[in-house]
Amino acid sequence: MGRIYGGRHKTRWPQKTGEDKPVEEIVRELRKHLPVSSSDYRERSLKIHGLICAKCGREFEQKDRHLLTVHHKDGNHMNNPADGSNWENLCVYCHDDEHSRGLLGDYLSDPKKKG
Ligand SMILES: [Zn+2]
Ligand SMILES: [Zn+2]
Repeated sequence: MGRIYGGRHKTRWPQKTGEDKPVEEIVRELRKHLPVSSSDYRERSLKIHGLICAKCGREFEQKDRHLLTVHHKDGNHMNNPADGSNWENLCVYCHDDEHSRGLLGDYLSDPKKKG
């Protein structure tokens, strides 16, 4: 009780604006930490895993690279780790097969569904 909060301290915020980073540099810094954008991951995956189908092993040439698609192993298209651990390069046929079979297979082999 009776304590006096004395002093005439004025709160002074440092007014220095020492760092004048250009906006471009800040954006560049931020980009480093962002996950790979959806338009980039395909190129990245092809670069990491090569122009080869992970399933049938068919190799593709640069001119046929559009036939290779990127499959997300966990099915989550938002999960794009930069090391490519969630990607698999599949040719369009295998990719199609992978998805249809997966859905059907899960359905048929669901242990909870007993005839
Ligand atoms: Zn294939
Ligand atoms: Zn897929």
